[in-house]
Amino acid sequence: MSELNLVLLGPPGAGKGTQAERLVEDFGLPYYATGIILREAVAEESELGKEAKKYMDDGELVPDELISRAVAERFESGETDSGFLLDGFPRTVGQADVLDDLLRSRGRELTSVLLIEAPDDEVVRRLSGRRTCAKGNHVYHVEFDPPKHDDVCDQDGSRLIQRDDDRPETVRKRLAVYHDQTEPLIELYDARDLLMRFDGTRPPEEVHDRIRAKLAAKRFEDDE
Ligand SMILES: [Zn+2]
Repeated sequence: MSELNLVLLGPPGAGKGTQAERLVEDFGLPYYATGIILREAVAEESELGKEAKKYMDDGELVPDELISRAVAERFESGETDSGFLLDGFPRTVGQADVLDDLLRSRGRELTSVLLIEAPDDEVVRRLSGRRTCAKGNHVYHVEFDPPKHDDVCDQDGSRLIQRDDDRPETVRKRLAVYHDQTEPLIELYDARDLLMRFDGTRPPEEVHDRIRAKLAAKRFEDDE
């Protein structure tokens, strides 16, 4: 069977994380979310982690070059040899070039880029409605999954807060960065016939079923 080399693309709040969990279960792929890779590097206090920490502490975006190095390390380790699922990388056209080089130098190529789309207003509604418990990180949503009592965690009674990342103005800023820096990748991958589009406003189970069906069809074609 052909290997699955997958990239997840889409705005924040479109449900990439949820779909990633399911795909990892389905296919046993190693999953690399840029945020997780960077946090791990910071925790390990590697050279790269130390450099990345400076930017993260200042609330700045970690530069392309550092993130690319972190991803390259995963490829060099051999972990990705029989497939992978990337989330948050590539985030820019520059990073897409890095990924192409990493794959090409290993005689490999991307299988598909899974684009999960959601309109800006829906993203803001989803993310800015989230409330997180200060004690146990339990997550609620004022509209879709409200706690029994306003602003109190059902599970441990602690206070619910809105994380800075989830404030509407922060979400709008993240969306602006996405439109500016990441959206050009859609055209790039579409032109290479790698793009698969999914409607992130549909229920997660439905999105998951569609992804599975499209990937199965693609593998069937590739294996013929
Ligand atoms: Zn809680």
